Amino acid sequence: MTYDLVVIGTGPGGYVCAIRAAQLGLKVAVIEKRKTFGGTCLNIGCIPSKAILYASDKFAEAEHELAAFGVLVNPPKLDLAAFMKHKDETVAANVNGVAFLFKKNKIDTFTGTGAIKTAQLVDVTAEDGTHTEVETKAIVIATGSDAAPLPGTEIDEKLIVTSTGALALDKVPGKLLIIGAGVIGLELGSVWKRLGAEVTVVEYLDRILPGMDAEVSKSFQRILEKQGFTFKLAHKVSKVTRTKSGASVTIEPAAGGEAATLEADIVLVAIGRRPFTQGLGLEALGVAMERGRVVTDAHFKTNVPGIYAIGDVIAGPMLAHKAEDEGIAVAEILAGQHGHVNYGAIPSVVYTMPEIASVGATEEDLKAQGIAYRVGKFPFTANGRARAMRQTEGFVKILADTASDRVLGVHILGATAGELIAEAVVLMEFGGSAEDLARTCHAHPTLSEAVREAALATDKRPIHM
Ligand SMILES: Cc1cc2nc3c(=O)[nH]c(=O)nc-3n(C[C@H](O)[C@H](O)[C@H](O)COP(=O)(O)OP(=O)(O)OC[C@H]3O[C@@H](n4cnc5c(N)ncnc54)[C@H](O)[C@@H]3O)c2cc1C
Repeated sequence: MTYDLVVIGTGPGGYVCAIRAAQLGLKVAVIEKRKTFGGTCLNIGCIPSKAILYASDKFAEAEHELAAFGVLVNPPKLDLAAFMKHKDETVAANVNGVAFLFKKNKIDTFTGTGAIKTAQLVDVTAEDGTHTEVETKAIVIATGSDAAPLPGTEIDEKLIVTSTGALALDKVPGKLLIIGAGVIGLELGSVWKRLGAEVTVVEYLDRILPGMDAEVSKSFQRILEKQGFTFKLAHKVSKVTRTKSGASVTIEPAAGGEAATLEADIVLVAIGRRPFTQGLGLEALGVAMERGRVVTDAHFKTNVPGIYAIGDVIAGPMLAHKAEDEGIAVAEILAGQHGHVNYGAIPSVVYTMPEIASVGATEEDLKAQGIAYRVGKFPFTANGRARAMRQTEGFVKILADTASDRVLGVHILGATAGELIAEAVVLMEFGGSAEDLARTCHAHPTLSEAVREAALATDKRPIHM
């Protein structure tokens, strides 16, 4: 049989694309080399990391916070096996959920590595070496990404780990050294810090979370330092050596200078992710690539007719919801509709405590573009619900266009920021103004009132400040 669509990879890009295409009446097959569906995100990314971030936050709460509410549980004890079981059960429920959705939508599944022979033919190699050929009218490449390696450093996922190993350590390390102060390093560092590890983060740049609004990342760095993180910013790792008891890491100032050596029980390499296209046969087909990424046009088409690509393997933020939205858009395009992704309204969240969430432009972006803007800021210390929860760290910051009042960016540092950002995304999707937000009734007492107050603050009229 000939499928209308074959999707290679079942991460959030691929599985969502397959489901949407099937909803629209296309006959769809997916190919996945992993034993379970859901890709990086569900198996070794978003979902397991959030499971242990949540669980470790409970531990930290019990250790440091509950007493202030009159709830005495000190000292909490960690059962790491149960902690990891929670993670594994969460992953299993999610990946099985995808398998169920494939069945429900009558999507055929092939387990094995897909290689594109022509724009109409994909070869699937199963683990036992057997081949199956799948014919199709269109192909979507959704093969995602894997951890970027640190040249000269061999990852064994035991002593020197990527995020995958850091999600499954069998004991709390005494000293955890993290290379890279991006989202993944800070999230996983938070998990093990809360459970008792001494955490040091080495970062080449002179700031954490590059790309985030600088004021937010500076405030957040101070909060993490208060939590016990040590940062070695503007330093590069020049050597990682295995020792009898762990690893020895040589660092040097990025601008040149004297080297220093740090000892660690576990080294987490978290210097970013790179698109994964190995074995797909793209070179032979002449599919255009740029810095490892598959090049597509605004309709996710590659330069080879009939072959499309979405998610981490193409340009743009390496985020699950970006991949999902692209999956929906390309499925709709293939079904003759007008799928579209608004890249100006893609939120991004760091699931630490407090959380960071942002959407749209940062102050640095607006300055670089010469756009005149007004800033409205509101701290959680002035929010009643935040006080009741003892979660007063952080603030909401809204950037509105001076001339039109349109909201151009929203940045939130605070508890549940990842949930609070949703209303800002909706507002920006509809081209809303700060005044629109300021005039929208928000339930009292909620943390979301701080978002409204920040909108009022863009016009210098916050009520509670
Ligand atoms: C630790 C960690 C935490 C993260 N947390 C978040 C988060 O909280 N929020 C967020 O938005 N993003 C998060 N991400 C990023 C997110 O996981 C990715 O952006 C997302 O998974 C990309 O989706 P995708 O569909 O493009 O690819 P992937 O999820 O990488 O899926 C690609 C799939 O393709 C399969 N595949 C590859 N090649 C072939 C082949 N030739 N044949 C068959 N199958 C193949 C792979 O096995 C894989 O299952 C996190 C990532 C990590 C590592």
